Amino acid sequence: MSDAPVALVTGASRGIGRAIARALGDEGFRVGVHYRSGKDAACALAKELPNAFTLHADIKEPAQIDALVAELKKNEGRVDVLVNNAGYNVNALMPAMPLDSYDAVAAIARGAWYLTKLVLRRFMLRQQAGRIINISSVVGHTGNPGQVPYTMSKAGLDAMTRSLAQELAGRNILVNSVAPGFIDTDMTAELPEAMQQQILARVPLGRMGKPEEVADAVRWLATSADYVNGSVLHVNGGIFGG
Ligand code: NAP
Repeated sequence: MSDAPVALVTGASRGIGRAIARALGDEGFRVGVHYRSGKDAACALAKELPNAFTLHADIKEPAQIDALVAELKKNEGRVDVLVNNAGYNVNALMPAMPLDSYDAVAAIARGAWYLTKLVLRRFMLRQQAGRIINISSVVGHTGNPGQVPYTMSKAGLDAMTRSLAQELAGRNILVNSVAPGFIDTDMTAELPEAMQQQILARVPLGRMGKPEEVADAVRWLATSADYVNGSVLHVNGGIFGG
């Protein structure tokens, strides 16, 4: 086993998660590059990083999370930083949205809750140390038409951050959120062009953010920021300040 602190980043096969994995790799972490369908991309990233390994799980499936945590326990024995980054969205106005779309989006937030619970029980509470960083979204604060389940689940993730930070006060485990705005990844590329233009028009800095700009905020919360707890750090070019 390596002596380096271990950072687990969910949804690290692409987009913001990949940039977070790179940033934490630069900081000397041994990085757990988690993926669901993007095995080749995750393996390529793990090879590129100085000290990394891959892990698979569909975050919607508790049994797969159990297996992932068991593998971490056996192979690594510690988790110092958990970044709940994996995300999924379905765009549809509420009257047209099928129930299973709601379930698919909500199950990601449930998975973040379940993974965090296991990481706390198996690692961080025993270590008496850790950092948990939840990747939420500006739209959990502002709302967004066509994204009711997504905005509900992202607001819920920030509520988890606040409640858990209070539960863990005194255990040397800090819990914070990073709430990105409109970031240039596959997720935003899938939005209808008209919606992209509407959102862009609301960004005071006049451009989309880069995944690396979100990763910088995570890097700070993971390695510094010793007196920041239960906070939501907005990275959105000025759309919303909290
Ligand atoms: P993305 O490019 O769509 O990537 C999503 C990531 O989540 C992928 O690595 C994917 O894994 C993983 N994932 C999706 N469903 C999963 C599941 N059921 N189980 C496990 N992993 C799953 O997204 P992104 O733009 O980088 O977003 C990253 C995070 O930031 C998300 O939580 C998103 O909601 C949030 N966010 C993004 C923006 C934005 O503008 N892009 C804004 C605000 C918040 P595989 O590819 O391996 O399947």
